[in-house]
Formats: sequence, C-alpha cells, structure tokens
Amino acid sequence: MDGSLKGKHVLVTAAGQGIGRASALAFARAGASVTATDRDEALLGDLAAVTGIAVQCLDVLDDAAVAGMAREVGRVDVLFNCAGIVHSGSILDMAEGDLDLAFDLNVKGMVRMIRAFLPAMLDHGDGSVINMASVVSSLKGAPNRFVYGTTKAAVIGLTKAVAADYVARGIRCNAICPGTVESPSLQQRMRAQGDYDATRRAFIARQPMGRLGTPDEIAALAVHLAGATYTTGQAYAIDGGWSI
Ligand code: NAD
Repeated sequence: MDGSLKGKHVLVTAAGQGIGRASALAFARAGASVTATDRDEALLGDLAAVTGIAVQCLDVLDDAAVAGMAREVGRVDVLFNCAGIVHSGSILDMAEGDLDLAFDLNVKGMVRMIRAFLPAMLDHGDGSVINMASVVSSLKGAPNRFVYGTTKAAVIGLTKAVAADYVARGIRCNAICPGTVESPSLQQRMRAQGDYDATRRAFIARQPMGRLGTPDEIAALAVHLAGATYTTGQAYAIDGGWSI
C-alpha cells in the first residue's frame, strides 16, 4: 500500500455509530471504497446513501457470519476492528460471565475478523489491520474499568502478536487507544450515572486538554494508520493528554 486510500477497500466493524461511523465516513472521504458493518442494521441505514459506502449487517460475536462475510466480500486492504463494549465496575463488582462476554466481543471479535480476512491479505502480500483498544488498557488503569481495561490490554497484546508474525509479509497491525470520546454509548453511560452534568464534568476533568475527544478526531488517526506504511505493532494513544 502506497499511503493513498484511492482504490483501497476498507472494512469497518461497529460502523453504525460513534467512532466506527465517523471512520467509515472519513475513509470514504479519503477515497476508499468502504464496507460499513454493524450488528444493528437500522443504524447503518443512512450510511448506504453515502458515495463509496456499502453497508452490511455483521455481529462480530457470530463466527459463521464473520466467515461468511469474508467469503462474500473477498480481500480488503484495510480492516478496522472497532467493535467493543464498556463494562463498568471493579474486580469485585464483576458479575459471573461479564469477563467472558467482554472477551468474546472486545478480543475474540477481533480475532475472528483477523482470522477470516488475513489469509487474503497474505496472498496479496499487503494489508493493514487497525484494532480499537483504549488508553484504559496496558497503558493506564482507570477506576471502575476492570473488565474493560483487561480486555483492551489484550487488544494491544494481540495487535503486537499479529504484527510480529506477519511484519515480513506485508501486513501491518496497529492499535488505537483513545481517551474519553463523545459517542452515543458515552452519553448513555453519563446519563446512567444519575447526575449527568457532574459525571460529564468528571470525565472532562480526566482529560488534561479540558475537553472530550470527538469521533472525527479518532477517525482521522484511523485513516492515517491505514496509509502509514512504515509503522506496525504500535499502540497509538489519542487521549487529550490523559496518559502523559
Ligand atoms: P458506541 O459504543 O457508541 O457504539 C458501538 C457500536 O458497536 C454500535 O453501533 C453497536 O451497534 C456496535 N456493536 C455492538 N456490539 C456489536 C457486535 N457484537 N458486532 C458488531 N457491532 C456491534 O461507539 P464508541 O463509543 O465510538 O466505541 C467504539 C469503539 O471505541 C469501542 O471498541 C470502544 O471500546 C472504543 N473506545 C471508545 C471510547 C469512548 O470514549 N467512546 C474510548 C476508547 C475506546
């Protein structure tokens, strides 16, 4: 890949809202042809009207659906694994099954996608995988993010492992590690706390830049990494200075 996204095919998971959606739009603006996928088909509706974007329903928990999509779509140049959920609470708050569910989505969802799409990239001798981690991972601990931080640290581990295995065969694999980003699920989390304004102030106070990140800012990093041909195996913090 020469750095330009013109003529490149990009597949994005969890493109229905938030960072995934902003990224699908940013990749299309950068000239790529985009397959935007999400578990929730309704969220993809209006993306289908955007030039260069095709939409497909895909639940990354579903092995057969992931394998079927790889057969249908064929080779992609860029795979952006964005799907993930936030689980709140400490190790003692965790209910039975919470960690398994979060691993299945946040970690194994990416593993399924990479196993399905990597062979065609290898045949072609070129490909970029971008995995959505978080600064709350092996980079930083945050209160009440035990399950989340554990799974996102695993995303960085799997990113480095894939990068190391395939670095000499034209494959790059990097992770994006955002701080707190204004997205629909963040809004939900802030409302769920009861005092929305106080929760919002607390989230903003964590970010030394004094504001939350935007999905478009994270999308711009995804587009950059898709075409950044001399970097692999890295975890890129984009967090308003939280991890300084
Ligand atoms: P969001 O949480 O608002 O939306 C998530 C999307 O994922 C939804 O469209 C949903 O339908 C889809 N989804 C959920 N389960 C799925 C599944 N099994 N298969 C396919 N799609 C599924 O979006 P967001 O907050 O931008 O988060 C996107 C990613 O960014 C996540 O991996 C999240 O952990 C990560 N992240 C977010 C923040 C933040 O502050 N928002 C910070 C760091 C990392």
